Amino acid sequence: MSRIRVITLNAALGPLDYRLPHGMIAQPGSIVVAPLGPRQVIGVVWDDGSFPDTETVGDNRLRSLLSVVDVPPLPAPLRRLIEWTADYYCAPPAAVLRMAIASVSALEGARSVIEYRATGRDPLRNTPKRQQALDRIGERQGLVRELAMIGGVSDAVIRGLVKDGAIEGVEVSMDTPFADPDPAFAPVDLSPEQTAAADRLVELTRGQAFHPLLLDGVTGSGKTEVYFEAVAEAIRMGRQVVVLLPEIALTEPFLGRFAKRFGHEPVAWHSGLRQTERRRAWRAIANGTARVVVGARSALFLPYANLGLIIVDEAHETSFKQEDGVRYHARDVAVMRGKMEGCPVILASATPAIETRHQVALGRYEEIKLPARYGGAVMPEIIGVNLIETPPERGRWIAPPLVKAMEEALERGEQSLLFLNRRGYAPLTLCRHCGHRFQCPNCTAWMVEHRLTHRLACHHCGHVTPAPKECPECHADDSLVACGPGVERIADEAAALFPTARTAIVTSDTLWSPAKAAEFVRDVTGGAIDIIIGTQLVTKGYHFPNLTLVGVIDADLGLEGGDLRASERTFQQIVQVSGRAGRGEKPGRVFIQTHMPDAPVLKALLSGDSARFYATETEGRRIAHAPPFGRFAAIIVSDVDAQEAKNSAHRIGNAKPTVDGVEIYGPAPAPLAVLRGRHRHRILIHARRQIDVQTMIRDWLGQVEWKASTRVAVDVDPYSFV
Ligand code: ADP
Ligand code: ZN
Repeated sequence: MSRIRVITLNAALGPLDYRLPHGMIAQPGSIVVAPLGPRQVIGVVWDDGSFPDTETVGDNRLRSLLSVVDVPPLPAPLRRLIEWTADYYCAPPAAVLRMAIASVSALEGARSVIEYRATGRDPLRNTPKRQQALDRIGERQGLVRELAMIGGVSDAVIRGLVKDGAIEGVEVSMDTPFADPDPAFAPVDLSPEQTAAADRLVELTRGQAFHPLLLDGVTGSGKTEVYFEAVAEAIRMGRQVVVLLPEIALTEPFLGRFAKRFGHEPVAWHSGLRQTERRRAWRAIANGTARVVVGARSALFLPYANLGLIIVDEAHETSFKQEDGVRYHARDVAVMRGKMEGCPVILASATPAIETRHQVALGRYEEIKLPARYGGAVMPEIIGVNLIETPPERGRWIAPPLVKAMEEALERGEQSLLFLNRRGYAPLTLCRHCGHRFQCPNCTAWMVEHRLTHRLACHHCGHVTPAPKECPECHADDSLVACGPGVERIADEAAALFPTARTAIVTSDTLWSPAKAAEFVRDVTGGAIDIIIGTQLVTKGYHFPNLTLVGVIDADLGLEGGDLRASERTFQQIVQVSGRAGRGEKPGRVFIQTHMPDAPVLKALLSGDSARFYATETEGRRIAHAPPFGRFAAIIVSDVDAQEAKNSAHRIGNAKPTVDGVEIYGPAPAPLAVLRGRHRHRILIHARRQIDVQTMIRDWLGQVEWKASTRVAVDVDPYSFV
């Protein structure tokens, strides 16, 4: 009798036992179809002895597996990673497993689709639209919908062209292999410092052993070129590589850069992929033919057949922390995956997180430094603008010293970047007459005005309303005022100051797809933009040689609300955005506008003494037993019903354990008291490093019951405290 244990993709269920029917072959990791009540579910065969505490069903009541899916079994290192992630982040194994399976269509047998391409024949009847479509499509091939998009025409135009013989359908396998990147395609000549760093990375890649390493290089030092050498080595060895980037918007420029070096693009993996693309990528990753994968954090859980190198670029970015579902930190899980796989993990950053620096200090991570920019480019000059001494004009936000610097840059034909981490036009709209403020009906948050789209929007839940014409409260005319600036307002100000300058706003509202991001890069590189106004999205990764001026509109913004990482985050953000200035031959300047030039973080930025800043911050964390010296975890209780949320939170609070070295605060209403219509309460756990908080939390929550409408989320190593 062969009994096997299966984890299904249903997060509400624990591991289940099934009978393996005679003649069916399955092993740990095999993806299977299993009966569940009247339905069928997908699951993965798990190792014997895992999850020993699950209830077992008597042999006579076992149901038989229905089939084994014809894809490679999930490899053992991935199964260990799934167990570790579920355990560490207090998440259901099924929820983690879902990130590994990630494409149900990938589990279906070989399939093909009909794609279309130009035949080279002229259509029987031509029209300007048809000609435009054919011109733009050129040699490209795709589904009707995709060609319509490329051609800038409707689907009907493409179908008309098919009927007329100018475009034809071809059957393509959905699993066309990806072209192999060529390590010898276009290697670059590295500087002596870069060579030394690259040699070490290549050596580690050859070694194929777990080895975490911090590649700590100033902005523009060539970290990417350096780790590309390790990527090349992994390709030569026939191993797979995954490169994690913090934002989808960055993948597009990265693909191009990679193709220049290796002749072909890597395989992209992110939430923006179409279903057929996901399927193709997943299958190629699982059978080992996808050599290099670049993607957002979700690429970390894919079933690589023979992973040989993991790279986390911009490793300090907080967007690697997932804030819903399984609340994991991709940087930390990446290191753990390297450990399970037995391969090196490279964390690249110009502003490594204190947690990462601490691992270096403990000797657990190796560190390689690149202290100088490549090619003689110098670090930009940093200039403080004291907003109390030289304030901007009334109702404006760009102070005179920065205005003057922008003028000079424009005169020289150079580009400027204004940084303000606020989307939209104004963060708050109020009625001057009665004081009414526009609030989101679903969240404890103000509605943010977006003039470009004539709307008010909530940045927490996405609720939008048309821009109001009058106050809904007192109906006074012309009484609404926008309070404070967002990037759109700064763009208006820049346009008023420099009417002939060409501006571009860069936020997640304007760069919402990889294609938009690519267009932006083309425009800036091609010199079609003079002034960029952007949020944190523009602080990362971009390399624009003619950009010589950076203006930080409000350096104090990130310090408001002050969670434990506020200063560090401000420091990182401003160093990163400064790093966009003067990357080419022309030197750069950075103007930092602040009301608090004496705040330690601003002093550090202005003096360039980052070592001292980090030493003080780290010491502060040590004294407070904050991470990395102690641990935090949060329990977030939410319900659509306010009373029920409170009751559940208090029931959990009343059951809190007393453990030496652990303090438990709350429950208390969350600062973001209502989010997406759910009332929220938080409990914060602060523990000494050596304490097993996960087991403590699981035991604690295991004793308490709450209504089905209540959600209880555990956030281990939280980054958000709202
Ligand atoms: P970082 O990631 O450290 O900010 P990048 O790898 O983006 O730096 O390099 C900055 C710029 O310098 C890029 O345009 C890169 O192509 C160029 N660069 C760096 N090193 C070299 C090199 N050895 N040869 C040619 N170009 C280089
Ligand atoms: Zn909202």
